[in-house]
Amino acid sequence: MSVSHFSPRDPGPARDPLALAPEDCGRGHACQFCPQEETCGLEKGHHEKRLIESRLAGIGQIIMVMANKGGVGKSTVSANLAAGLAARGYRVGVADADIHGPNQSRFFGCVGERVRLGEQGLAPRAFAADGIAHPLRVGSLAFMMERDDTPIVWRDAYKHDFMHHLIGSFDWGPLDFLVIDMPPGTGNELITLADLLEGHDVAALLATTPQEVALMDSLKAVRFCQERQLPLLGVVENMAGVTCPHCGGEFHLFPRAHLAAALAEVEVDSLAQIPLSPALASGSDRGQPIVLAAPEGPEAQAFAPVVEACVAHARQGFAEAAAHSLQALASEAGDALEAALAQAPAEQRDELEAQLADLLNDAPRPPDPDAATR
Ligand code: SF4
Repeated sequence: MSVSHFSPRDPGPARDPLALAPEDCGRGHACQFCPQEETCGLEKGHHEKRLIESRLAGIGQIIMVMANKGGVGKSTVSANLAAGLAARGYRVGVADADIHGPNQSRFFGCVGERVRLGEQGLAPRAFAADGIAHPLRVGSLAFMMERDDTPIVWRDAYKHDFMHHLIGSFDWGPLDFLVIDMPPGTGNELITLADLLEGHDVAALLATTPQEVALMDSLKAVRFCQERQLPLLGVVENMAGVTCPHCGGEFHLFPRAHLAAALAEVEVDSLAQIPLSPALASGSDRGQPIVLAAPEGPEAQAFAPVVEACVAHARQGFAEAAAHSLQALASEAGDALEAALAQAPAEQRDELEAQLADLLNDAPRPPDPDAATR
């Protein structure tokens, strides 16, 4: 499939203002991929909106992995975070939004593979490995290119459309986590996705290196998150130390004192320091994320707090949403419950009231990772 297939959005036929809801074809792919695009009279904007909403309805927690600078290892962090979540038993997808450097196909060993288009949309490539119950689902522009070395020279309108396809046209299926490998910077792609995902469970992670030149850019990304009220779970410091292969001693290429002070000032946690490691680099090149290839190794241990932070955030979000729903239900049903209690025999009323209070105060249970494997 050629990327040249993307075309500026067709405004579609005039809509009947009396229609309560525009008709939809029910197809799981975008109109740009549709053999009937030329002749279809349905409202294409409605189709795209429905498509995106239906995908997002099946996704629990979205994690955007950001970096305000290229070359800090953001894609490595994304791949290993996704693999670490999968190793915990979750159903995980990886959306490669890095248009100019779509590397997730390499990190998951599917370079050169191409996407298939079905009635339900574009099929993500599945990555299976020992230690994960549910294959990771990977969606990337790399699967849609005619050649892997074709450069992407798109104007913003095309990039905007691709971000919609990435979420809406890939058949993600039900997922506990969707990890999005963002392009570096706070440009068009980030703003498009932030707008698209507003109102859904989205949190951000920031990958950086402990260099002053990266720090300055990273703080811009922090500010973006704060201004957009996008929860920032913390910073992942990549290339944060080296173990000498000869003597086993550790040393740091970049002093991290400035980074630590700057993060403290903007009240952002440093979640992890990932070492600069040949095993990490070769795992990425071989398409075997190190957290799966060597789960007991120092690199996997370094990633563990990042995985834990994402799980904790998702559980907290679930618990808050469930508590909110329960309170809403209780408040709607309040009058009826009071009437029912008034009907109860007087000697049982206190006990019933206590049982009801226990029920409403019971914290809802966050998702159980083991449940995903059952
Ligand atoms: S052009 Fe779009 S709305 Fe029409 S049938 Fe194809 S996918 Fe559906």
